[in-house]
Amino acid sequence: MPSKAIFLDRDDTLIEDPGYINHPDQVKLLDGVTEALAELKAMGYKLIVVSNQSAVARGIVSEKVLGQIHDRLKQLLAEKGTSLDRIYYCPYHPDGVIPKYRKESDWRKPNPGMLLTAADELNLDLGQSWVVGNSDSDIQAGLRAGCKTILIDHPSHYKRPESGKSNPDYRAVNMKEAVNIIKKHLRSSGDHTIQTQPAPPEPGTISSNHNTSTDKTERLLNNILEQLRAMRRNEMFGEFSAMRLMAGVVQVIALFCLLISIWFLMSPNRQDNSVLIALGFTIVLQLMSLTLYVMQRKK
Ligand SMILES: [Mg+2]
Repeated sequence: MPSKAIFLDRDDTLIEDPGYINHPDQVKLLDGVTEALAELKAMGYKLIVVSNQSAVARGIVSEKVLGQIHDRLKQLLAEKGTSLDRIYYCPYHPDGVIPKYRKESDWRKPNPGMLLTAADELNLDLGQSWVVGNSDSDIQAGLRAGCKTILIDHPSHYKRPESGKSNPDYRAVNMKEAVNIIKKHLRSSGDHTIQTQPAPPEPGTISSNHNTSTDKTERLLNNILEQLRAMRRNEMFGEFSAMRLMAGVVQVIALFCLLISIWFLMSPNRQDNSVLIALGFTIVLQLMSLTLYVMQRKK
């Protein structure tokens, strides 16, 4: 009986992406990834990494070092009690500098080659499988292979997906949310089966068409809801900045100076110089706070 799988992008989905990773020490798991993978495994999914690694074709990392990087990833997951079933990567790129790897490839996402090969080698049911990744090419590869798709989009990521370029089934900010989406989807599908094609209509009935149209409407509404949630999340994250934090801290110190100047003013042994100095500090700090706030608004 075929298995179901979660196809996972690697960079900015499972581990931090600083640009190109070319040393095992750079492998850092993103928050909540091990817990999410353990949960997916417990739900009966095979966990398969599918990663474009044009860094090989570009001469940034060798396949040998890439193997060490993936060993490090497996080690970090094993330390937390979970594991991957397989890692596929595509080392090719048409603009590569190493002739051996300079070519187009069916494996390079958005092509679905890695997914189709995995399905063949591991006897996977692609219709019951999911692709989770942070780029449009992940989503396109998943859709072409007939999988459900979740686009991970987090404001802190090195690369953000272009809005509107791909049309994922769902959006999430991290793996934890992706797992919740999968669980919710399975609950709503009732029997833990995901149909990728609508059921054929019964002869002489119109109910099937009606159901298909209801499904489409429901899916469209879900997509709109997910996008609104993602926009709200982006706004929440976007509100935070180091400059805004500094402005707040300076504001607090300014208030503290104001309290000191009032205390000096009320003191029986009042010294005008002390009051003036404290007030001077208050004014300077307040101006600094306002400047920082204005600067972060313009940023
Ligand atoms: Mg990625």
